[in-house]
Amino acid sequence: MQVITKAKELNQIIKKYKQEGKTIGLVPTMGALHKGHKSLIDAARRDCDIVVTSVFVNPTQFGEKEDFDKYPRVFDNDKEVCKSAGCDIIFHPAPSEMYPEYDDNRPLKDNLHVKSLSYIVKVPEKYTNRLCGKSRPGHFDGVCTIVSKLFHIVKPDKAYFGQKDIQQLIIIKNMCKNLNMDIDIQGCPIVREDSGLALSSRNSYLSEAQKQVASSIFKVLSNIELMFNEGKTDKEEVFSESLKLLADGIEIEYLEVCDVNTLDYCEKIIHNSFVAIAAKVGNVRLIDNVVLNR
Ligand code: AMP
Repeated sequence: MQVITKAKELNQIIKKYKQEGKTIGLVPTMGALHKGHKSLIDAARRDCDIVVTSVFVNPTQFGEKEDFDKYPRVFDNDKEVCKSAGCDIIFHPAPSEMYPEYDDNRPLKDNLHVKSLSYIVKVPEKYTNRLCGKSRPGHFDGVCTIVSKLFHIVKPDKAYFGQKDIQQLIIIKNMCKNLNMDIDIQGCPIVREDSGLALSSRNSYLSEAQKQVASSIFKVLSNIELMFNEGKTDKEEVFSESLKLLADGIEIEYLEVCDVNTLDYCEKIIHNSFVAIAAKVGNVRLIDNVVLNR
């Protein structure tokens, strides 16, 4: 397994593989890798000749008051996870490699203004004025910017994203369509702890007791799915019944039903919709969702 830090060097390596007719799979991550990330690398390993995992905490997707400086950076552990999943190349650039205006010598948070100095992909408002976009202005612009940059550098045939971040997945699929990017976007199922809590790098901010509390989010979503499978489609009824399973100490930011392709809000819980939740346990913001198919 190679660790590459320079975009040009990776460009050259990829060019060679492409000349040999090899297919390339890309797994973009921000590191602090867990079994959820590993499942994406596993999927890429099954499908593609060459697997590239990027590990990069992307400044342009963080708000000023968010955790860019505190986000876990544990590259030695990430290397182990990638190696165990059979990844071929880790791309681990310095922030200044991805954003020339970024100053690696300045404190992390002093660099967030890089957003206003860079070329940024603008996501249409109809995708960003809802769910996570409401409380995280500019977040999806930052995500699409870094993903586009990675696509230009790696030129993957397929790229792998988790359904855990379903709004991100839908936006990226639509970005590819809209910007004529010929990349097959694969959505991979959510990997959970035994308790049902969706794995997330930010779970490391939670105490064991808080994790227990947070696992009730999955109980709510599972009950919503159960009621939908029983034929109940009225969201007021289904939500109020299911929310009885939510533990004390969780503050809900949103609980919504949206179309799985367009992100449009749905009046009722229907086939091909998803129910998404964002909630805070202490200061830690968690997201989860369930896709409803019948
Ligand atoms: P992140 O490092 O948080 O930016 O996540 C990198 C990729 O891993 C994204 O496509 C996420 O949706 C995906 N991911 C994160 N957590 C999980 C999980 N529990 N199950 C499946 N995929 C995940």
